[in-house]
Amino acid sequence: MKTAIVTGANRGLGLEVVRQLAGQGVRVLLTSRTEAGAAGAMQVEAGEIIYHQLDIADPESIQSFANYVRTDIGTVDVLINNAGIHYDTFQNTLTADFHIVEEAWQVNTLGPWRLIQAIYPQLRKGGGGRVVNVSSASGSFVESWPGTPAYAVTKAALNMLTLKLSADLANDKILVNAVCPGWVRTRMGGQNAPRSVEEGAHSILWAALLPDDGPTGGFFRDGERLPW
Ligand code: NAP
Repeated sequence: MKTAIVTGANRGLGLEVVRQLAGQGVRVLLTSRTEAGAAGAMQVEAGEIIYHQLDIADPESIQSFANYVRTDIGTVDVLINNAGIHYDTFQNTLTADFHIVEEAWQVNTLGPWRLIQAIYPQLRKGGGGRVVNVSSASGSFVESWPGTPAYAVTKAALNMLTLKLSADLANDKILVNAVCPGWVRTRMGGQNAPRSVEEGAHSILWAALLPDDGPTGGFFRDGERLPW
């Protein structure tokens, strides 16, 4: 049975990704920064879903989670860096509050980077891992739009991290891709978004369950390549 880790999985896209993966027979580590926040998720989930605390902005939490994965889980097949924050429509580059920029950097970029370093030994063990960085077209140099400076810059950096990691993990046959789920009805996306969480999560699952000859170092939505 495959084992997957999903960050920021107590609600929104992360929770739906957990549901869909578990539905496909994957053992899923549902993680969230507070156990209280995941309480609702845990009530509806069961079976092959295991909860563990993970605050992606806190290096100590990442280390303690990695220790748990090493001692209690063993091999990891899929890592989904889903947690994300600060779709900052209320500011632009000139008015940006650097406290917001700094928080976005910690969660959207450094968190995924630190987590991959920390669980790399377990990811490598399976001999064919998958890493999915949940990004956004907002971080694309071609598709981005005005506003949301903290979000766009940190997602663009996540895209570059994806590219660098894909090269560094190629010898381990680990496929690393960035995925934009589209504009989705979640707390971040708001209720006017055209896509359901089911549709958005489907796009993420595509990259999580790629065959061994699947692409690496790419940016995708619905399995279709997006421009960086
Ligand atoms: P959401 O409903 O706001 O969920 C965000 C999740 O991230 C929550 O579970 C939140 O947990 C978690 N999180 C925040 N800070 C964290 C931290 N320090 N450690 C661990 N988890 C943390 O948003 P969403 O729409 O599901 O977003 C999921 C991903 O999709 C994000 O990366 C987002 O950028 C991306 N995305 C979304 C859209 C969209 O339209 N919705 C479009 C493109 C990309 P708490 O409950 O504890 O805050």
